Amino acid sequence: MALARAIPERGSFPASCPHCRQPMDLLHSAWCGCAASHPSKICPSCWKCACSHFDYENLLCWEDPPAELRRYGFERFFVPYAGRHVRR
Ligand SMILES: [Zn+2]
Ligand SMILES: [Zn+2]
Repeated sequence: MALARAIPERGSFPASCPHCRQPMDLLHSAWCGCAASHPSKICPSCWKCACSHFDYENLLCWEDPPAELRRYGFERFFVPYAGRHVRR
């Protein structure tokens, strides 16, 4: 029997980890403690935050966050979270 996938509660923001590509929820995962230009969220699968991603300091990989994320402290959005490739 197919266990119904839990309906995402309001306030979830599905993304994928830039390192291991496992799904993660940007609103429910923990902020990292790095002193990077922008803190990132810790992946529940590989326990890495996005700060160590090779593109993290690449300005082309950032855009304005959706309002939902902005409400939760994201000043910028690291595009690889969305699984999209960034054009160079
Ligand atoms: Zn970090
Ligand atoms: Zn990961």
